[in-house]
Amino acid sequence: MKSNAQRRPPLQARRPAYRSLEGWALGMLIEHHAIRECEHHGHAVDRSDPDARNRAREAAWNQPFPGASPEECQAAIDEVLRGIGDSCPDC
Ligand SMILES: [Zn+2]
Repeated sequence: MKSNAQRRPPLQARRPAYRSLEGWALGMLIEHHAIRECEHHGHAVDRSDPDARNRAREAAWNQPFPGASPEECQAAIDEVLRGIGDSCPDC
């Protein structure tokens, strides 16, 4: 007799669930092409694109990280950008 194991429905959202505000901010910046990841080392690299930054900040304001205020989300975006250089440290 086969046990009829119930299959779980597929995950509804394909977006990763970010555990921290910082990780979320990083994801927003990547999504809006404000930063990229070095294909060789995986380091985040600032693309120095003001329009992309503005889009990421706007998206952070309009769709803030759950549990955080829009102000906190924009601050997190700025904070992440401050910590990222415009070239990969290992390239
Ligand atoms: Zn690199």
